[in-house]
Amino acid sequence: MNKLPVFILISFVFASHLLAQQISTPLEKNKYQKVTSYDELSAFVNLMDEKSGLVKVEIIGQSVQGRNLYALKFSTSEFGQDKSKIKVLFMAQQHGNEQSGKEGALLLAQAMLKPENRYLLDKIDLAIVPQMNPDGSEANKRRNGNATDLNRNHLILSEPETMALHRFFDKYLFEVTMDVHEYSPYGEDWEKYGHRKNAEETLGGTTNPNVSENIRQISETEVLPFVLNYLSQNKYTSFEYCPGGPPEIDYIRHSTFDINDGRQSFGILNTLSFIQEGKNGEDNFIENLQRRAEGQMCGMRGMLEYVSLHKNEIKKMVESDRKILVSGKSNPKVSIQSDHFGNGQKLSLPMYSYSTHKDTVVIVNDYRPVVKTLYDVQKPEGYLVPKQAKDLVEWVGKHELIITEFKKQKNQEIEQYFIKGIDSIDFERDMIINPVVETKIFEGEINASDYLFIPTAQLKGNMIVLALEPKSELGLVTYEPFRYLLKTGETFPVLRVVKK
Ligand SMILES: [Zn+2]
Repeated sequence: MNKLPVFILISFVFASHLLAQQISTPLEKNKYQKVTSYDELSAFVNLMDEKSGLVKVEIIGQSVQGRNLYALKFSTSEFGQDKSKIKVLFMAQQHGNEQSGKEGALLLAQAMLKPENRYLLDKIDLAIVPQMNPDGSEANKRRNGNATDLNRNHLILSEPETMALHRFFDKYLFEVTMDVHEYSPYGEDWEKYGHRKNAEETLGGTTNPNVSENIRQISETEVLPFVLNYLSQNKYTSFEYCPGGPPEIDYIRHSTFDINDGRQSFGILNTLSFIQEGKNGEDNFIENLQRRAEGQMCGMRGMLEYVSLHKNEIKKMVESDRKILVSGKSNPKVSIQSDHFGNGQKLSLPMYSYSTHKDTVVIVNDYRPVVKTLYDVQKPEGYLVPKQAKDLVEWVGKHELIITEFKKQKNQEIEQYFIKGIDSIDFERDMIINPVVETKIFEGEINASDYLFIPTAQLKGNMIVLALEPKSELGLVTYEPFRYLLKTGETFPVLRVVKK
């Protein structure tokens, strides 16, 4: 090649790089006065793809009303192919009325193209799904086009949006995930109490007791403090995610342990998984939008910083914890009923005072930071799901569970639950069903061709137990469409295969 074409090539690459860096997000173009519409978002992500070789757009699915769900995949090589890199997934705006998550995600996407941030992509393959719920976003409503709360849908996967996200996750098996939301601290109860939560950004890790202890520990003692500190160094107020309250009226805890949300549904696969919630506008969703969007971006940016500094240890931890899960030997007992407990510690909770209009600190006495098991079951070798139960079979397919041929071994027996009655139990301040069961040995002959056999020795092993046990607080039978599986005076149709 002679000198001229090389020069032209270099200046072309340089120019297109400069161009890519100069792409403004729709929010910036709108001078922070208008949230990004679906059409603007579509145009923006496609422009990013066109202008920069660092990012590729993948359409991971469609919403109920037929809008595209986009993933922006950032990589200096072929996404997901370089095994020395760590894979991170951020998703935002599952709730359509939580606009700042999307705006922050788009700001981050733009920032990833800047040369000063290239060091992050030397270590990280980053995927951003900026808008999980475009239908809700267009209407500024929490729920999707079927009026379903997507962030309670990650177990049953009845919606196209959550199904698409899980298919995407399963394709790459991301080591780190973060689900970006907003919280609304306002309301009569709080005004009456005299204070409200006020942190601009809050962050929480996984709390389900079946997630590997390493992951829960490191999230709490290392990752959260790092990112919260990163936020405060960048002048955003931040605190650990603490739902519940007002204090003295109801307890304060750390996140739900339910596995039907974005964070825990990936956490239960031993993913280092988080939720970030920025503070919503008080009077309308435009209020403070620039500050809110930049705060959300800053938290995501802080998470990338942590991950890039600790890439190898996170990869090693996730890999070995997942290996144990796949071997089926992770935890012989699976916790299927839990609750939040105190540990004698009081919480100093930063709050805004309605009387002084200033930030202050309130001491919370009823603080319950620990999730403890109330009831657990021995993990079986697998479950037999009757093929007749079409909806269950469909559910197995949605989660892409491994199914194998069943041939009863000499050292195995089959257990069946008899439903004696249906009680109730408090689950995070909701009364839900709690069946009374008796375990019986299944005496009849099994016609293996009438069943799917789902071994628990697989990545989704703990999720499978939580989903299929009738006494599980988080199980399928707690959802209306699967409620029919539980009938008093009858046997539960899903069978357990156990070692004798
Ligand atoms: Zn939300």
